[in-house]
Amino acid sequence: MNYDTENIFAKILRGEIPCEKIYEDAYILSFKDITPQAKTHVLIIPKDPYIDIADFLQNADSQYQSCFWQSVNKIIDHLNLRSKGFQMKAHKGKDGGQEVFHFHLHLLSNN
Ligand code: AMP
Repeated sequence: MNYDTENIFAKILRGEIPCEKIYEDAYILSFKDITPQAKTHVLIIPKDPYIDIADFLQNADSQYQSCFWQSVNKIIDHLNLRSKGFQMKAHKGKDGGQEVFHFHLHLLSNN
């Protein structure tokens, strides 16, 4: 499977469709999920084009992976979730429930 540059998150990254932005830096963009499953439900996506978490772990270089996770760490504080409870998950492939084929993390909290 090749990365589809017309997927909805690629369009959000290019500014072609809007999102409710939570946080952005050189490596990631985070925005509210359009169909929230919890009081807080944000998506975190790398700016570089990876299809899913397995593609990211296999093919992103270690420096980019490190920067990505450091940015995720910043979002935890940005949302004031460090001392509270949250869930973080990634769907991979149709059998894993993935609908949008640009790697993303779901960050959910009932706080
Ligand atoms: P997944 O099943 O992991 O691929 O989840 C894709 C997620 O993207 C779902 O939770 C959708 O609600 C969310 N989503 C789809 N389109 C948008 C959009 N335009 N803005 C924000 N979230 C979206």
